[in-house]
Amino acid sequence: MPSRPILVDAMGAMEANNVWLIQNQQTTRSANERLHAVAADVVAADQLVPFLCECADGTCLGRVDMKVAEYDEIHADRNQYSILHDHELANGEAVIEERALFDIVSKDAHPLS
Ligand SMILES: [Zn+2]
Repeated sequence: MPSRPILVDAMGAMEANNVWLIQNQQTTRSANERLHAVAADVVAADQLVPFLCECADGTCLGRVDMKVAEYDEIHADRNQYSILHDHELANGEAVIEERALFDIVSKDAHPLS
């Protein structure tokens, strides 16, 4: 097996990891949109639905409980994501609103000061 410099392997792995993180966040968003579509039909308006945390941690299995209407309101802006308190932000994201059970972050942020 040909040997490659260790540094090249490490950098390649880091780059792959970043791509994977971004894809994972989009996968989470897709899963939430499917859950939302189902829940909107079958769940009472005041019932909390266990959406997936949309933070930047690809291994996060957190659940963000919110009503279907709250999901609609937050995600009407495609730059906005709902994440559990103190979960990992992706580059360029900032918390724009803190709610009781979760934070709202935006990729097009006007951060809380
Ligand atoms: Zn999370």
